[in-house]
Amino acid sequence: MGRSSKDKRDIYYRNAKEEGWRARSAYKLLQLDETFHFFEGVHNAVDLCAAPGSWSQVLSSKLEASDGKIISVDLQSMAHIPGVMQLQGDITKETTANKVIELMDGKKAELVVCDGAPDVTGLHDMDEYIQAQLVLAALNITTHILKEGGTFVAKVFRGKDIDILCKQLELYFDKLCLAKPRSSRTSSLEAFVVCNGFHMPPNCRPSLFNPLLNPDSCLQWDSLTEEERVVLPYVSCGDLSGFDSDCSYPLNMQGHAPYQYREPVQPPINPPYEHAVKLKRANMLQQP
Ligand code: SAM
Repeated sequence: MGRSSKDKRDIYYRNAKEEGWRARSAYKLLQLDETFHFFEGVHNAVDLCAAPGSWSQVLSSKLEASDGKIISVDLQSMAHIPGVMQLQGDITKETTANKVIELMDGKKAELVVCDGAPDVTGLHDMDEYIQAQLVLAALNITTHILKEGGTFVAKVFRGKDIDILCKQLELYFDKLCLAKPRSSRTSSLEAFVVCNGFHMPPNCRPSLFNPLLNPDSCLQWDSLTEEERVVLPYVSCGDLSGFDSDCSYPLNMQGHAPYQYREPVQPPINPPYEHAVKLKRANMLQQP
């Protein structure tokens, strides 16, 4: 009997169906743990960007205590997983972050994972940027709910700006490692950053305050400690009574020499419009 086109998909897809995982991504988390053993001693865990839920399934089957909490968050709704509390929301929104913190009910997690992926646009720079923003949003929530010494695992794209993201994560963790599980396609830039030994940087407190996301929150600047805010000096230079670069001035102005057209000091070399100008001139010459 012939196989349906879906059955021809890769071995991890087929195995996931056979073994009851909702997505082939389950193997990525399992294989990461084979190397890093981050499930050891975990009672409470949070799965950010969890739908359809295979990572939450893995957490629910691997975690040690039945009295622990597993919280899953995603933009999309998810079918119920026994032992997992679900929250539908956007992890970049302060309201969702607050709800996750509320659901933790004062408890701290030993592990936070994030397999978040934005809808890809195909524009690599844009996709990498949005992916990095998701990781930073996940980190923001993590600073509120992860135990000191805890582990954070997140999907990243190993693009040209990965070092900047890692430098930001390094501020919060003792050790970082980028890992590529066997089940992650070689052709994809996808990798996972495994961050061990969580700690807040000295004199910083967890905060959801983000002046870029909440323009109205400018007033909160005063509540930040010196280490939490960086204010670069912004200085106006030159003669303040000089010409304003945003204004238009007449060609002939009182107190100035009469206007006279002058060729540019250095005309552009081989400008792209030159060809079009030539064509236009030739065309005009042909016309009666
Ligand atoms: N780990 C999941 C599993 O094993 O089933 C797969 C996660 S899937 C690759 C990526 C998920 O990220 C999608 O379900 C998407 O809805 C979610 N996502 C993307 N942006 C999000 C956001 N801003 N807030 C919450 N979830 C988001």
